[in-house]
Amino acid sequence: MDTATLFNRSAAESSRKTPVDHSLPAPVRRIVVVGGGTAGWMTALIFARALIERGVEITVVESPNVGIIGVGEGSTPWLRGFFDSLDIEEAEWMPPCHATYKCGITFDGWSTKPGFERYFHPFASMLDNLTMTQFVHNVDARVQGADVPAHPDRFFIATRLARGHLAPKPAENFPFDIWHGYHFDSVLLGQFLHRKALQRGVRYKTAHVTHANLDERGAIASVGTREGETIAADIFVDCSGFAGLLIDQALHTPFVSFAENLFNDAAIAIPTPLGAELPSETVSTAMRHGWAWKIPLTERYGNGYVYSTQSCSPDQAEQELRERLGLLDSDTPARHLKMKVGRVTRHWNQNCLAVGLSQGFIEPLEATALLFIQQTASAFVEFLERGDLGETAHEQFNVRVNEHFEGTRDYIVTHYKTNSRSDTEYWRACVGVTILALALAFPAGIVGTLRRWWRGEAQ
Ligand SMILES: Cc1cc2nc3c(=O)[nH]c(=O)nc-3n(C[C@H](O)[C@H](O)[C@H](O)COP(=O)(O)OP(=O)(O)OC[C@H]3O[C@@H](n4cnc5c(N)ncnc54)[C@H](O)[C@@H]3O)c2cc1C
Repeated sequence: MDTATLFNRSAAESSRKTPVDHSLPAPVRRIVVVGGGTAGWMTALIFARALIERGVEITVVESPNVGIIGVGEGSTPWLRGFFDSLDIEEAEWMPPCHATYKCGITFDGWSTKPGFERYFHPFASMLDNLTMTQFVHNVDARVQGADVPAHPDRFFIATRLARGHLAPKPAENFPFDIWHGYHFDSVLLGQFLHRKALQRGVRYKTAHVTHANLDERGAIASVGTREGETIAADIFVDCSGFAGLLIDQALHTPFVSFAENLFNDAAIAIPTPLGAELPSETVSTAMRHGWAWKIPLTERYGNGYVYSTQSCSPDQAEQELRERLGLLDSDTPARHLKMKVGRVTRHWNQNCLAVGLSQGFIEPLEATALLFIQQTASAFVEFLERGDLGETAHEQFNVRVNEHFEGTRDYIVTHYKTNSRSDTEYWRACVGVTILALALAFPAGIVGTLRRWWRGEAQ
């Protein structure tokens, strides 16, 4: 059944606790996670839940000199599954992370079609089950040329909630779940997860990893630190961010760039004060050379501009963002970031697992990066629990994660392909190049993609 019931059910299943099973493969006794950003701590917590009580030692090693990326303030609804699976209540994690609810994303200025200048991507809920079927049917019919209503605003409860700046929290006796994502301060989220992981038995070491020592099979035997220590483990998790310290620098795993399909390779972030109201949506506004995010947190707005350096310089981009935010004369500092968009070919290579920015990144238009972390770490635990660490397991695992990346890339590309702006070379190029990328998938595949997306499979 292609409805949100399935979506909600599969989400609930993914968040269920792992049953205790003591048959872990003997060789895995020590896991070292290099990197203490969101990826490092989420992975450590997912591993801790399944592995610590089986005697596996998990240590996070973090450089005292290299900071975390410190952006990434929005999530998909799947983050809820992450916290649920760890038995961490919203009341515990949301306040210290300045978190707010996210009902979906408004896309502003992406289309010039009358009536669609602003459109909303709602997160589907159980409550939408009846209208969801009709929506997918109508989209299908419209793609075939029928003149039926298919504007999502008419079909999803999340749209009403976001319009009213309401939280997706029904009264206690309301019989349907309202599915939602979150906004949060990424630095505070990292600190919260760090504290939680330590409480749950994860070890922590501050040290700057300088190199990896490989054994005769080419696997990582240990990592060396600037402080003079050699740290050995059975499994190494590379959560070192874009640096890809282990997966790239040590193992030289090939990288597949998505630059031909997704042009944006840089971003600027600038905070602004919160107004009188607290919205429950992200707003993504099309700009001259990319798009700008606006994310409400309890203490401030997070703003940023994701753009292509092929189209404009960082100074031009900053000027355009400041103009939009009314900060042309303000000395509020802007953070400039580079983005490496694409994925490694093997997320699990030898005894190294890459999680987070080290494994790849797709620009944050639908805030999917934490979901990659969650799914990669959880899938790895599944393989460990099966006791399956052989070549076939590596292959299956990498195919699974790669499909996830490719599906998400196509989904994000669709946003650019379907834009109808033509005011700058950037937007004209977006439409032109992505036609090739989506030749097979569009338009027949778009309905299928929609279905899978709402069921949570195409993320
Ligand atoms: C502009 C932008 C916007 C984004 N928006 C979103 C969003 O809305 N939603 C979303 O889900 N994601 C978003 N992301 C992605 C998100 O920020 C990351 O996926 C997430 O923060 C995880 O990062 P990380 O932990 O992999 O890397 P980092 O945060 O970079 O952490 C790297 C860690 O490795 C450590 N390290 C590095 N080198 C060494 C060394 N030599 N020795 C020891 N330790 C080392 C560092 O100290 C640090 O702790 C966004 C990313 C960008 C660039």
